[in-house]
Amino acid sequence: MQIGRLIVFAGPSGVGKGTLLRSLLDKHPDLYLSISATTRPPRPGEINGHHYYFVSRERFETMVAEGQLLEWAEFAGNYYGTPRQPVERAIAEGKLVVLEIELEGARQVRKTFPEGMQIFILPPSEAELERRIRARGQDPEAAIARRLQRAKAEIAAADEFDLKIVNDDFDRAIAALEAALFAVAPSCRVH
Ligand code: 5GP
Repeated sequence: MQIGRLIVFAGPSGVGKGTLLRSLLDKHPDLYLSISATTRPPRPGEINGHHYYFVSRERFETMVAEGQLLEWAEFAGNYYGTPRQPVERAIAEGKLVVLEIELEGARQVRKTFPEGMQIFILPPSEAELERRIRARGQDPEAAIARRLQRAKAEIAAADEFDLKIVNDDFDRAIAALEAALFAVAPSCRVH
Protein backbone atom coordinates (compact mmCIF):
# COMPACT_ATOMS: atom_id res chain seq x y z
CA MET A 1 0.00 0.00 0.00
CA GLN A 2 1.18 3.51 -0.77
CA ILE A 3 2.09 5.59 2.22
CA GLY A 4 1.68 9.26 2.92
CA ARG A 5 -1.57 9.50 0.98
CA LEU A 6 -3.76 9.81 3.99
CA ILE A 7 -4.60 12.88 6.00
CA VAL A 8 -6.30 12.78 9.37
CA PHE A 9 -8.30 15.79 10.25
CA ALA A 10 -9.22 16.09 13.93
CA GLY A 11 -10.26 18.71 16.43
CA PRO A 12 -12.95 19.19 19.03
CA SER A 13 -16.61 19.07 18.19
CA GLY A 14 -17.79 22.54 17.12
CA VAL A 15 -14.37 23.78 15.99
CA GLY A 16 -15.58 24.17 12.40
CA LYS A 17 -13.82 21.15 10.88
CA GLY A 18 -16.83 20.36 8.69
CA THR A 19 -16.99 23.86 7.17
CA LEU A 20 -13.24 23.92 6.52
CA LEU A 21 -13.38 20.48 4.95
CA ARG A 22 -16.31 21.31 2.69
CA SER A 23 -14.47 24.36 1.42
CA LEU A 24 -11.30 22.31 0.80
CA LEU A 25 -13.23 19.60 -1.05
CA ASP A 26 -14.92 22.20 -3.24
CA LYS A 27 -11.53 23.55 -4.25
CA HIS A 28 -9.85 20.15 -4.55
CA PRO A 29 -12.29 17.62 -5.97
CA ASP A 30 -9.40 15.17 -6.30
CA LEU A 31 -9.47 14.63 -2.52
CA TYR A 32 -11.34 11.56 -1.30
CA LEU A 33 -13.32 12.13 1.90
CA SER A 34 -14.08 8.93 3.77
CA ILE A 35 -17.71 8.53 4.89
CA SER A 36 -17.93 7.18 8.42
CA ALA A 37 -20.43 4.80 9.93
CA THR A 38 -22.14 5.98 13.11
CA THR A 39 -24.85 4.95 15.53
CA ARG A 40 -25.71 8.63 16.18
CA PRO A 41 -29.14 9.57 14.85
CA PRO A 42 -29.07 11.89 11.83
CA ARG A 43 -29.33 15.64 12.47
CA PRO A 44 -31.84 17.57 10.40
CA GLY A 45 -30.58 17.74 6.82
CA GLU A 46 -28.06 14.91 7.16
CA ILE A 47 -28.29 12.29 4.44
CA ASN A 48 -27.48 8.60 4.84
CA GLY A 49 -24.53 7.65 2.65
CA HIS A 50 -23.48 11.27 2.22
CA HIS A 51 -22.75 12.69 5.67
CA TYR A 52 -22.57 9.31 7.41
CA TYR A 53 -23.79 5.74 7.11
CA PHE A 54 -26.33 5.74 9.92
CA VAL A 55 -26.42 2.24 11.38
CA SER A 56 -27.80 0.44 14.44
CA ARG A 57 -25.50 -0.51 17.34
CA GLU A 58 -25.97 -4.14 16.38
CA ARG A 59 -24.84 -3.49 12.80
CA PHE A 60 -21.89 -1.42 14.03
CA GLU A 61 -20.79 -4.19 16.38
CA THR A 62 -20.93 -6.67 13.49
CA MET A 63 -18.74 -4.34 11.41
CA VAL A 64 -16.22 -4.22 14.28
CA ALA A 65 -16.30 -8.00 14.79
CA GLU A 66 -15.78 -8.61 11.06
CA GLY A 67 -12.83 -6.21 10.87
CA GLN A 68 -14.65 -3.93 8.43
CA LEU A 69 -13.47 -0.76 10.19
CA LEU A 70 -10.05 0.82 9.88
CA GLU A 71 -10.57 2.48 13.24
CA TRP A 72 -13.49 3.19 15.51
CA ALA A 73 -14.30 4.94 18.77
CA GLU A 74 -17.14 5.79 21.09
CA PHE A 75 -17.92 9.50 21.24
CA ALA A 76 -20.60 11.17 23.41
CA GLY A 77 -22.53 7.92 23.72
CA ASN A 78 -22.36 6.81 20.08
CA TYR A 79 -20.02 4.72 17.96
CA TYR A 80 -18.16 6.17 14.98
CA GLY A 81 -15.89 4.29 12.58
CA THR A 82 -14.13 4.42 9.22
CA PRO A 83 -15.10 1.71 6.71
CA ARG A 84 -11.84 0.06 5.71
CA GLN A 85 -12.49 -1.05 2.13
CA PRO A 86 -13.30 2.29 0.43
CA VAL A 87 -10.25 3.92 2.05
CA GLU A 88 -7.88 1.13 1.02
CA ARG A 89 -9.32 1.19 -2.51
CA ALA A 90 -8.92 4.96 -2.82
CA ILE A 91 -5.32 4.80 -1.57
CA ALA A 92 -4.57 1.98 -4.03
CA GLU A 93 -5.99 4.23 -6.78
CA GLY A 94 -3.46 6.88 -5.75
CA LYS A 95 -5.99 9.27 -4.24
CA LEU A 96 -5.34 11.51 -1.27
CA VAL A 97 -7.72 10.29 1.41
CA VAL A 98 -9.06 12.52 4.17
CA LEU A 99 -10.44 11.14 7.43
CA GLU A 100 -12.37 13.49 9.70
CA ILE A 101 -12.27 11.68 13.03
CA GLU A 102 -11.85 12.19 16.77
CA LEU A 103 -8.75 11.68 18.92
CA GLU A 104 -8.99 7.95 19.73
CA GLY A 105 -9.49 7.11 16.08
CA ALA A 106 -6.56 9.33 15.09
CA ARG A 107 -4.37 7.42 17.56
CA GLN A 108 -5.39 4.11 15.99
CA VAL A 109 -4.66 5.42 12.49
CA ARG A 110 -1.27 6.63 13.69
CA LYS A 111 -0.39 2.97 14.28
CA THR A 112 -1.71 1.66 10.95
CA PHE A 113 -0.61 4.63 8.80
CA PRO A 114 2.39 6.11 10.63
CA GLU A 115 3.32 8.15 7.57
CA GLY A 116 -0.09 9.76 7.24
CA MET A 117 -0.24 13.44 8.15
CA GLN A 118 -2.36 14.27 11.19
CA ILE A 119 -3.78 17.77 11.51
CA PHE A 120 -5.55 19.17 14.56
CA ILE A 121 -7.89 22.15 14.29
CA LEU A 122 -7.97 24.32 17.41
CA PRO A 123 -10.63 26.86 18.42
CA PRO A 124 -9.50 30.44 19.16
CA SER A 125 -10.46 29.74 22.82
CA GLU A 126 -12.47 27.27 24.89
CA ALA A 127 -15.14 29.93 25.50
CA GLU A 128 -15.56 30.44 21.77
CA LEU A 129 -15.80 26.69 21.26
CA GLU A 130 -18.60 26.43 23.84
CA ARG A 131 -20.43 29.28 22.10
CA ARG A 132 -20.15 27.50 18.74
CA ILE A 133 -21.33 24.13 20.11
CA ARG A 134 -24.35 25.79 21.73
CA ALA A 135 -25.06 27.93 18.66
CA ARG A 136 -25.44 24.80 16.56
CA GLY A 137 -28.55 24.15 18.68
CA GLN A 138 -29.01 20.66 17.32
CA ASP A 139 -27.90 18.56 20.24
CA PRO A 140 -29.64 17.87 23.56
CA GLU A 141 -28.11 19.55 26.66
CA ALA A 142 -26.64 16.28 27.97
CA ALA A 143 -24.89 15.71 24.65
CA ILE A 144 -23.57 19.29 24.67
CA ALA A 145 -22.09 18.74 28.14
CA ARG A 146 -20.42 15.49 27.01
CA ARG A 147 -19.06 17.19 23.88
CA LEU A 148 -17.60 20.06 25.91
CA GLN A 149 -15.90 17.69 28.33
CA ARG A 150 -14.50 15.66 25.45
CA ALA A 151 -13.39 18.84 23.64
CA LYS A 152 -11.19 19.82 26.60
CA ALA A 153 -9.58 16.36 26.67
CA GLU A 154 -8.95 16.49 22.91
CA ILE A 155 -7.40 19.97 23.05
CA ALA A 156 -5.05 18.73 25.80
CA ALA A 157 -3.76 16.11 23.32
CA ALA A 158 -3.25 18.50 20.41
CA ASP A 159 0.55 18.19 20.67
CA GLU A 160 0.31 14.59 19.41
CA PHE A 161 -0.52 15.95 15.97
CA ASP A 162 1.89 16.85 13.16
CA LEU A 163 0.27 20.21 12.59
CA LYS A 164 -2.03 22.45 14.63
CA ILE A 165 -4.14 25.09 12.94
CA VAL A 166 -6.18 27.65 14.87
CA ASN A 167 -9.54 28.27 13.22
CA ASP A 168 -9.80 31.97 14.12
CA ASP A 169 -9.71 33.30 10.58
CA PHE A 170 -11.34 31.11 7.95
CA ASP A 171 -9.19 32.15 4.99
CA ARG A 172 -5.98 31.81 6.97
CA ALA A 173 -6.99 28.35 8.21
CA ILE A 174 -7.79 27.24 4.63
CA ALA A 175 -4.45 28.58 3.38
CA ALA A 176 -2.60 26.66 6.11
CA LEU A 177 -4.49 23.48 5.25
CA GLU A 178 -3.75 23.87 1.56
CA ALA A 179 -0.07 24.32 2.31
CA ALA A 180 -0.18 21.06 4.30
CA LEU A 181 -1.98 19.25 1.47
CA PHE A 182 0.56 20.47 -0.99
CA ALA A 183 3.37 19.16 1.19
CA VAL A 184 1.76 15.70 1.36
CA ALA A 185 0.66 15.53 -2.27
CA PRO A 186 2.49 17.95 -4.57
CA SER A 187 0.15 16.93 -7.42
CA CYS A 188 -2.77 18.37 -5.46
CA ARG A 189 -2.60 21.83 -6.95
CA VAL A 190 -3.39 24.86 -4.82
CA HIS A 191 -5.55 27.31 -6.76
P1 5GP B 1 -20.54 14.51 15.05
O1 5GP B 1 -21.53 13.73 15.87
O2 5GP B 1 -20.44 15.94 15.52
O3 5GP B 1 -20.82 14.39 13.58
O4 5GP B 1 -19.10 13.87 15.27
C1 5GP B 1 -18.60 13.71 16.56
C2 5GP B 1 -17.13 13.40 16.50
O5 5GP B 1 -16.93 12.13 15.88
C3 5GP B 1 -16.32 14.40 15.68
O6 5GP B 1 -15.14 14.72 16.42
C4 5GP B 1 -15.97 13.63 14.44
O7 5GP B 1 -14.72 14.05 13.91
C5 5GP B 1 -15.86 12.23 14.97
N1 5GP B 1 -15.99 11.19 13.94
C6 5GP B 1 -16.74 11.22 12.82
N2 5GP B 1 -16.56 10.10 12.11
C7 5GP B 1 -15.65 9.34 12.79
C8 5GP B 1 -15.03 8.08 12.56
O8 5GP B 1 -15.25 7.40 11.56
N3 5GP B 1 -14.16 7.64 13.50
C9 5GP B 1 -13.86 8.36 14.61
N4 5GP B 1 -12.97 7.84 15.45
N5 5GP B 1 -14.41 9.55 14.87
C10 5GP B 1 -15.31 10.05 13.97
